[in-house]
Amino acid sequence: MKEKIYTIPVTDAFRQDCECPLCVLEKDLEDRAVQFVLGPSLMEPDKRDDTTEKGFCRRHFTKLFNARENILGLSLIINSHLEHVTDLIEKASPKSIGKGKRKLFDKSQSVQGAQKTVGVLDRLESTCEVCDRIDSTMDRYLEVILYLYGKEDEFRRMFKEHKGFCLPHLNMLLKSTGKYMRGEKAEEFISVVLNIEVENLKRIYGDMDWFIKKFDYRYQNEPWKNSQDAVQRTIEKLVKYTELD
Ligand SMILES: [Zn+2]
Ligand SMILES: [Zn+2]
Repeated sequence: MKEKIYTIPVTDAFRQDCECPLCVLEKDLEDRAVQFVLGPSLMEPDKRDDTTEKGFCRRHFTKLFNARENILGLSLIINSHLEHVTDLIEKASPKSIGKGKRKLFDKSQSVQGAQKTVGVLDRLESTCEVCDRIDSTMDRYLEVILYLYGKEDEFRRMFKEHKGFCLPHLNMLLKSTGKYMRGEKAEEFISVVLNIEVENLKRIYGDMDWFIKKFDYRYQNEPWKNSQDAVQRTIEKLVKYTELD
């Protein structure tokens, strides 16, 4: 049996009536990772190394700022990261000594030098401390899902009765199958997952279709059925959970 620290949230997420249990798990991890960054531990300079190096993606800078908590802590993190970034860019650039003062960029080398800088910027754009924290635990959750599916009848039943996944999490789950399951078991699992997914994509297509029909005067007096939140649910099924109201 895998540790309860992972199995309990996984089982709870599959018990929820939602479009994607992995979205439930990831949203919770994201909220906790943001709270961790804004918490007291990163106020200490020596505990900030990872954050200083990685920084955050646009989504998570936005969340950290909008939390409006511990603005001093956030400022310290941002400044350490800014210093690190400036240093990286400075080091990636070809230097020359100009008349009397230090110049960073030598005109004859600037195109070549910019390529190095582009490499630095590409790496920076792909790193985020919050994303990394989420990804490592999501990987544990995916392992646990595959383990429970293989071992526990009750979980397998819940899994099969669920409404499938959003597309990014479906992708994640399929990739993990190759990593954590083998042979016939993996083949059976993949066919189950894809059948559930297609069935549920067709279900929300039906919800959307009914939502659209409701704009037609002939359907005005018909009930909404499950279509009132169909647009939001469909967007989230396509791209993961969002901040749509
Ligand atoms: Zn999802
Ligand atoms: Zn991020």
